[in-house]
Formats: sequence, structure tokens, C-alpha cells
Amino acid sequence: MPSKALIIPAAGAGKRMQRNTPKPFIKLQGRTILEHTLQKFVEVDGLEQVIIATSTAYINEATSVLAKAVPGSVSWDCIEGGAERQQSVFKALQKIADLDLVMIHDAVRPFIKKQHIYDCCKKASESGAAILGIPAKDTIKKVDANGVVVETPDRSSLWQVQTPQVFQTPLIKQAHAKAAEQNHPATDDASLVEWIGKPVHMVQGSVDNIKITYPRDLQQAKIIFGNQNF
Ligand code: C5P
Repeated sequence: MPSKALIIPAAGAGKRMQRNTPKPFIKLQGRTILEHTLQKFVEVDGLEQVIIATSTAYINEATSVLAKAVPGSVSWDCIEGGAERQQSVFKALQKIADLDLVMIHDAVRPFIKKQHIYDCCKKASESGAAILGIPAKDTIKKVDANGVVVETPDRSSLWQVQTPQVFQTPLIKQAHAKAAEQNHPATDDASLVEWIGKPVHMVQGSVDNIKITYPRDLQQAKIIFGNQNF
């Protein structure tokens, strides 16, 4: 069983949710979204370390969430995140011990299934990098700055990417360090691994693993909660 670290980026503002509270700290069914998310990972076999990166104002709250949820055998830390998600993860990576795998999971995806975490870890153990996703349901077009469609990629080859994204530790440290050095931006961690020329494997997840971003996502989240046994 590979040893594992978990990074949860949980910084950022609540702008897209039209609230003052950042998304991970909004409550659903009496608990913050962050607590629901963390709960899914704390019982993963081989978990040895958890790092949450959050905003200064939420360090105390995230620390008490960690203290309550993480078993005594697992080390944990809460750090201040960065201006963008990428910087939050990069800062967290500096704290990661010499473990086999790093799982990176958005704080705002509380509906992750344990089996999918294990599927991703297995593939990353074998190959270096594995990410969860679902085949694209909509036709997706590339549009230029004038709003004109420039390309319609074949839908059968398109996937919508989720988290967790799981990597062998030296690989993700190398990719993030190079991106930080060269100011190369990315909205997910896997694309940094692709950027350094290493393969990333796709593992099929579930449509329920939504990212809670907009107010309507909270409505959908309540429906998913109702359909699942939490
Ligand atoms: O808003 P966005 O889609 O980038 O959020 C994805 C995840 O990244 C969320 O869990 C959010 O809390 C986190 N994040 C972060 N640091 C930022 C921006 C977002 O940790 N500066």
C-alpha cells in the first residue's frame, strides 16, 4: 500500500458564489463543505499527511476542522494559501514529506467516492500521474477573443476534469517548481505534469463529483446529499 499525502487547496474568495464566505466554509447539512470533503479522505489506507492551504482569516477554522477530523496517526498542517489555486498548491507542496503519492483535491468537491480515490491512486502508483474525469457530455468549441469559433474538437476525445489528481511525489514537486520558476500558469495540477512532458492517465469518475462554484451548485449539492448516504 503506497504512503500518501493529501493537499486540499481551500483558499480564495466567495465572489462567484456571491457571498463573503469562501466556498469551502459554506455550510451544507450543518457542516462546512471542507469538513465533508476531508471526511472522505481521512480513512484512505496509507494516508500519512494532510495539508490544507487557506486564507489567513480561515486558518483557525481550518485548523480546528483538521484537529477534529484527522486521526492521531496522520500528521497535518494548515498553511496560508496563495493568490491563485496554483500558488496555494505550490506552497503546500513545500511541506510534503517523502511519501509515495500526493493526492490533490479541491476543498469544494465533497461528493468524491472512496473507490474513485483508490482507482486514481492505483493508476498513479503504476504510471506516475492519474486524474479523475468524466467524458464530455456537451459539444465543446474553442472560441477566439472576438467570440468566433475556431475549432470543434472531436467530442469522443474530450473529458471534463475533476479532482483528485494523484501523482508520484517527485513528479508533482518537479512540475510545480518548474512552473513557479518560469511563471507558467495552469488551472489544474495535471497540466503542469503534461507541460514537463510526462504522461497523465485519465480515470473515469462520477457526475456527482461536482465542484461547488456557483449558487446553483449549492442547490444541486443538496439534491446529491439527499440521494446519498452521508
Ligand atoms: O475557485 P477555484 O475554481 O479556483 O477553486 C478550486 C479550489 O481551489 C477551491 O477548493 C478553492 O478553495 C481553491 N483555491 C485556493 N487558492 C486560491 C483560489 C482557489 O486554494 N487562491
